[in-house]
Amino acid sequence: MKISSPTEYKLSLSNLKRRIYILGEQVEDTTEHPMVIPSLNAIAETYNPGDEPEASEILFAESHLTGKRISRFTHIHQSTDDLVKKVLMQRLLGRRTSTCFQRCVGMDGINALYSVTYECDQRHGTEYHKRLKDYIAWIQEENVVVDGAMTDVKGDRSLRPCEQQDPDMFVRIVDRDARGIVVRGAKAHQTGALNSHEILVMPTTAMREEESEYAVSFAIPADTKGVIFILGRQPSDTRRLEASPLDMGNPRFSSQEALVIFDDVFVPKERVFMAWEADVSGLVVERFAAFHRQSYGGCKVGVGDVLIGAAKLISDYQGTSRASHIREKIVEMVHLNETLFCCGIACSSMGRKTSAGNYEVDTLLANVCKLNVTRFPFEIARLLQDIAGGLLVTMPSEKDMKNPEISGFIEKYLKGSADVPTVDRIKVLKFIENMTVGCGAAAYLTESIHGAGSPQAQRIMISRLANLKEKSELVKKILDIK
Ligand code: SF4
Ligand code: FE
Repeated sequence: MKISSPTEYKLSLSNLKRRIYILGEQVEDTTEHPMVIPSLNAIAETYNPGDEPEASEILFAESHLTGKRISRFTHIHQSTDDLVKKVLMQRLLGRRTSTCFQRCVGMDGINALYSVTYECDQRHGTEYHKRLKDYIAWIQEENVVVDGAMTDVKGDRSLRPCEQQDPDMFVRIVDRDARGIVVRGAKAHQTGALNSHEILVMPTTAMREEESEYAVSFAIPADTKGVIFILGRQPSDTRRLEASPLDMGNPRFSSQEALVIFDDVFVPKERVFMAWEADVSGLVVERFAAFHRQSYGGCKVGVGDVLIGAAKLISDYQGTSRASHIREKIVEMVHLNETLFCCGIACSSMGRKTSAGNYEVDTLLANVCKLNVTRFPFEIARLLQDIAGGLLVTMPSEKDMKNPEISGFIEKYLKGSADVPTVDRIKVLKFIENMTVGCGAAAYLTESIHGAGSPQAQRIMISRLANLKEKSELVKKILDIK
């Protein structure tokens, strides 16, 4: 693993010459930019071996391609045990950062493509699987971050890709020659895009034969000519520019999303993993979605652990921790959070081997997992706000607390329990503000609805996989109905 520490990771990114815009300005080196640093710190934690006793076993794996020790984020799952360890790794990193650490999309992308390229080669006589394996061996060796890019901008949702007034609403192939293809389009809200070395593009939906130009998958370095990044806004994100870490709530860590534009980008054929094979495009979407819906049963649970800790701490700091209704609410938070974990573990344990030899999750259970994630974090956040009290959105700023003319009044009047410094109470409340209505809510709440597909996408999969006919046969058998 060439990049083997958070420091090496940050340095490797600063060496890339990318075209990036933040708040209307082009930025040369994002690793020094205050709007980006917290999200960079979060992803850098994936390079931190850590001191948790279980970390070494779950953050690393043995490559089935080279036998070498690699980051699990670059691993192809070889068993249900690997699938379980992936969820454990995500929970661990959610607990460390209390946000999205952005690196799972690439892992889920290579794992989805692993079996689909194999099946595509069987059907079409293509050579994508070998190319993908070469690419995976390379990212394992380099230990780079890969942005798994699926969501197209989509234009008018009532129209198919080929029916859009502007044909570039879905990433498509616009040219080809003997050396490779040229692509155009854009991917929306790309997690960790500015913190990634590589972009792995996949189609966003099952394409029809007449839309085969949109059936395209490829990988390119983030500094490829024609790739443009525009950082997305998050609620209260410019607090990062105020030099008041207390007001940021979670000053060290955050998530990140960006719009990624492909302005006639050349992709060499060695990095093309699907081109015009419309019949396999839907398989990539389904498998990537299942892996990423599993993922949320790990990362959001880790964040939930931190929020439950915040509920306990703030109730201690405010003198409410012995009230029975507060204890009940915290139990409810734990119940909801562990239910999500059960789903993440269940879809992993019930995984199966694909024809390519890697392991994939149980698709029905992964979709149940993610559908629960569209709801439970909101209830956990609601309970946390209930326990914290209204002060979480009415506190003075850090600058007020540092102004000697008024700091004494703040210290006196915003005090909770006598033995807890006022600033500690405010720290926890600002953290809760961040996680439930500030920029932390982008990853914990909105992403819980829409990340890895919106709730309706999970409902469609659940209705497809529920096998209601077989269930009604059960009744007939019990009641002896012919
Ligand atoms: Fe990983 Fe969760 Fe972020 Fe997705 S939302 S990249 S699963 S941490
Ligand atoms: Fe996500």
